[in-house]
Amino acid sequence: YTEFAGAFYGLVWDDVTKENCPSEWKVLSLEPPLPEQLLLEGKPLEQDLQESARQAVIGQLIGLRRALWVPVAGQSLGGGRVRGLILLGSSSNHLSAFLERAKSVAAELSLAMEAEEQLRGIRVRNVELALVRCTMESSPDGSSLNGLLAHLVADCVHRSANGESLGAAFAAIGVLPAPKGSSPAPVAVDFRWRSGDETWLNAIAADPLAKLTRRALETRRIIGSEPPVTWPQASVARIVALPLEAGGQLLGVLVAGLPVPAVSIATLERLELRARLAAFALLLSQRKEEESRRANAEQSLLDLVADPFFLLDPSGRIAASSRGARELLRRAGHAAVLPSGPLADLFCGHDRERLRKWLQHAPDSSSSAQPLKKDTAQAELQNGAKVRLQFVPRLPGQRAAVLFEPEETSASSRPTDYVEAELLNVIEWLEEGVVLFDEGENVRAMNSRFKHMTGLAPEESAKIKTLEELIARLAGQAVEPAQFAERWRELARNIQGGIREPLQMARPAPRVLERAARPVLDSIGRQVGRVEIYRDLTAQRVFQSKLLQTEKLAALGQMVSGVAHELSSPLTSILGYAQRLLVGQTGAGRDALERAEEIRQIYQEAERATGILRQLLLNARETIPERRLVSLNQIVMRATELQRFTLAAKKIHVELDLDPTLPFIHGDAGQLQQVLINLLSNARHALEEQSRGGVIRLRTRKSSDRRVLLEVEDNGPGIPQAIQARIFDPFFTTKPAGVGTGLGLSIVLSVVREHGGSVRLQTPPQGGALFQIEIPAATERQQEEGLSGAEQQRTESFLREGKHSFVEEIQLGSAANSRAQLAGEASFSTAQFSGLVNVPTSPGEPGKRARVLVVEDEPTVARLIADVLEDEGMQVDVLLDGREALERVARESYDLVICDMKMPGLDGQHFYRSLPRTGNSLRERFLFVTGDVIAAQTREFLKRNKLPHVAKPFRVEELTEKVHAVLQTHAHAKSSAAEVARKNAARSG
Ligand code: ADP
Repeated sequence: YTEFAGAFYGLVWDDVTKENCPSEWKVLSLEPPLPEQLLLEGKPLEQDLQESARQAVIGQLIGLRRALWVPVAGQSLGGGRVRGLILLGSSSNHLSAFLERAKSVAAELSLAMEAEEQLRGIRVRNVELALVRCTMESSPDGSSLNGLLAHLVADCVHRSANGESLGAAFAAIGVLPAPKGSSPAPVAVDFRWRSGDETWLNAIAADPLAKLTRRALETRRIIGSEPPVTWPQASVARIVALPLEAGGQLLGVLVAGLPVPAVSIATLERLELRARLAAFALLLSQRKEEESRRANAEQSLLDLVADPFFLLDPSGRIAASSRGARELLRRAGHAAVLPSGPLADLFCGHDRERLRKWLQHAPDSSSSAQPLKKDTAQAELQNGAKVRLQFVPRLPGQRAAVLFEPEETSASSRPTDYVEAELLNVIEWLEEGVVLFDEGENVRAMNSRFKHMTGLAPEESAKIKTLEELIARLAGQAVEPAQFAERWRELARNIQGGIREPLQMARPAPRVLERAARPVLDSIGRQVGRVEIYRDLTAQRVFQSKLLQTEKLAALGQMVSGVAHELSSPLTSILGYAQRLLVGQTGAGRDALERAEEIRQIYQEAERATGILRQLLLNARETIPERRLVSLNQIVMRATELQRFTLAAKKIHVELDLDPTLPFIHGDAGQLQQVLINLLSNARHALEEQSRGGVIRLRTRKSSDRRVLLEVEDNGPGIPQAIQARIFDPFFTTKPAGVGTGLGLSIVLSVVREHGGSVRLQTPPQGGALFQIEIPAATERQQEEGLSGAEQQRTESFLREGKHSFVEEIQLGSAANSRAQLAGEASFSTAQFSGLVNVPTSPGEPGKRARVLVVEDEPTVARLIADVLEDEGMQVDVLLDGREALERVARESYDLVICDMKMPGLDGQHFYRSLPRTGNSLRERFLFVTGDVIAAQTREFLKRNKLPHVAKPFRVEELTEKVHAVLQTHAHAKSSAAEVARKNAARSG
C-alpha cells in the first residue's frame, strides 16, 4: 500500500496461463469494487463471485468463481492498519482450504515489512546522527563551516537506493547579511550554498519562490507551497522554506523542493533538523567573524602601545602583544616566540617553571590601583636583562595581561639627580663633542666641546631645547645646509645600531667633523634616547696632508746636497769668467773675440744653474693636478735637459728617438715630467753602479690610433727576476738609506694610471731595463677645447719655450765650442726634431716707445730689466718700493708695470689690489716677476687673476717675450675698443 498514491501495488500470477498479467493489473485502487469491508474491518473475506454476478468485479477476477481477500496488517506498524493484501482467485468453489495458508503468509509479510520499516528508521537516524556529529565536530574556522553548509544542501538532494535519503529535487541555504544598526530594511538573501536541479535553483531568488522565502523569514515559520501552476517542471510536488534561527537571531533560510514520493511529515522533520544544523553553523561563522574583527581592532590598539605588554590565553601563551613588547623581544632575540609561544619561554631556564605557576594565578580583578605583591614577579630574560612582571587589572572574563618593567639595578637606585650630575660631569670632560637626546628628540645634555666646535655661545645653547632648534641654528653653518638638516632628521627617525658619518662645516671655521650616533637603551633594551658624539677631524686631515708634504721634503732634502754639488760647478765657472772679464777690462791685449767667448761661458753656466734651480722648484711644489694638452716629446726633452749635466758627469749618454708626429696627450705636464725624472734617475743609478757609464734611450711612438708609447731603456745591470713583482710597491728599494726612498716607481705608476695609461717592465735580451709607458692620446674634443683660448696660448708658449731652447741647441751645436764639449759626454740625437723647428718668435711693434714702470726692490734685477727694455726702445722708470709706485701710477700713465711679488712694505699683491682705487686700468697691463712660485698662495693669486708672470731666474728673451705679449694683448684690446667707439660715434652721428 502506498500512502501518497492511495493504492495497492503488487504482482499477479495466473496459474492457468502461467504468464505474467497485464501491467494495469498491478495497481489496485482503494475504490470499489474493492470490498469496503476489507479495509474497515481488516479481516479475511471470502467472496462468491457467482452470487454477486450483477456486481462489478476487478479485472483480475473476471471469469472466476470465488475470491479470497486476506489483509496484511502490521500490529506494531500503524496499529492494525492495512498495509497490503493477499488476493486469491479460483474457478472452483473451494477456496477456504487456502485461508489458513494465506493468513500465515500475511503474518510473515507483515513481520518482514515491520522489520524493514524499523531498519529504515534506524538507517535514517544513523544518517541524521552522522550529520549532527559532523556539524558539532567541524572546527569553527571559516573554511570548514563553509564546507559543512555545502554538505548540508548536498545531503538534502542525495538519493540512495535504500530510501534513507531525503531525495529533494533541489535545496539551497541563504544567509542574511549581518544586521547593521537597527534598520529592519528588507534585505536580500544570499543563497551561497546550493545543490540539485539547476532550473529551480536559478529561479530561487525570483518570485514566487522569493515570496515564499520572505514569508518564512517574516513569520519565522516553515512555509510550504505547491509549485506554481504555470511551472513546467513536474519534478517537484512541494516547495518548503525553513527559517534559520539560532541564539534568538534570524540568520538565513533553507529552501527545498520535494518530489512526490518524498512529501511526508517525516521528510519535513528531517529538513527541520538540517535547518537547525545550518543555523548553528551560520551562528558559529558569524561569531568567528566578529571575533577576528575584534582581534584586529585589539591588535591595532596594541600597535600603538609603547609599553611592553602581553595578553595571555588561559594556558599562559601569548595571545597578543603591544608594539613595545614586540620591540623588546626583537632586541632580546626572541622573534621566534611570537606570536603565540608561552610567555614563560622568554625567560631563563631557572625562572621558567616558577613563572609558569605564577601565570596560572592571574588575579581576576583588582580594585586597588596599587598592585598586590603576589601580582608581580621578577625574572631574567634570555638576554640577561632583569624585568619585573606585573598583572594588569582586568575585568572578569577578560584575558590576563602582563606588563614588563625594567628591574632597577643598584646603580639606578641612586638618586636620579645624583646620577645625572655624574653623567654631565663625565661628558663635560670628554675630548669629543657630545649631545644627548631623549626619545622625544629633546636635548638632554650638550657638552662645552660641542658648543665650541659649532660656535654656540653659552646663552644661545641654553635656549636650544630640541633637535629642530639645533638644526635651525646649525644648518646654516654647514657646507650643504639642506642636506645637513635632512641627514640629521633621518638619523633621528631611523637609528639602528651605530652610525658614523663625516660632516663638512663652513662656519665658524671650515671643519670636518665626524658624527657617531647610537641609540640609548634601558636595561630591557627599550630605546630611551640617542647619544651623538662629534670628533673634529680637521687637524687629522691637515696632519695627513702635512705628512705627505714632509715625505716630499725628506726626498727633497736628499736632493739638496746633490743640487748644491751641481750648483757649485756652474757658479765657479761664472765667478771665474766674470773675474777674468773684469781683469780683462783693465788689462790690455785681449781681443774682442776671446772676451765674447768668455761672456758666453758665463751665460751658459748661469743657464745651467737656472736649470738646476727649476728642477728644484718643480720638485718642491705642492702639485695640484692640472689637465691640458701636452706634448710628450716636449716633456721628454725637458726632463733630459734637467738631468743633462748630472748624466754627462757620469759618462751616461742619452739617446732621444722622438716621433715628430706624436699626438698630444691630455695630462698634467708637471706630473708627467716627474715620471720622466724618476725613470731617468733610476736608470742613472743603475748605470752608476756599473761605473763605466752607459746609454739611456728615450723613445716615443704612436702605439695605436688612440695611444702613445714612451720607452725608457738603459743598458745597466737590469732588474733581477726575484724583485720584479715588487718594484712598483711604495717604499720598496734596494738602494742604501739616504739614497732610495722606494717611492719613485710607485709615483710613476700612480701618475700613469691617473692618466688612464699603463706601465710595463720589459727585460731586453741584451740586458738592462726597459720601461714602457702607454698613455691615451688626447681625444679630438680635448684637442679642440685645449687649443682654444687661454689653453692655446699656454700650449703655444710651452711649445715656443721648448723650440726655443732647441733652436739654441742647434746653434750652439754648430758653434766652435760644441754643446757636447761643454756638457762633457752628454749628447743628444737631435735630428729627430727638425720638423718642430720653424717658429721664430718675433716681438711685434707695440713695444716701441712704450712707457714701462719697473717696481723691484732688488736693484740689480731692476737695473737689468730696465736695461733690457731700454734696449728694446722702451722708456723705463725704476722704483724700488711699492708705496712709491702706487703714488707714481696715480700721477703718471704707463703702458706696462713690471712688478716683483715679494717686496718689503707694500708687496706685489697689495700693490695690484690697491690699483682700482686709483681709477687706473693698469691692472690689465701687469707683468709679475716671481722668485717664489713655490708658495701655494702666490700661485693661487696668479692663477685666480690670470696674471702673466715670469719666474726668476729668467733669460732675457723670456722677459722681452712676455713684455711684448702683454703689450700686444693690450694694444689689440685698445684698438678694438676704439673701433667700437668709432662705430658707435658714426652711428649716433
Ligand atoms: P728607489 O729608486 O727610491 O729605490 P723606486 O720605486 O724608483 O725607488 O725603485 C725601486 C727599485 O727598483 C729600486 O730600488 C731598484 O732596485 C729597482 N729599479 C728601478 N729602476 C731600475 C733600473 N732602471 N735598473 C735596475 N733596477 C731598477
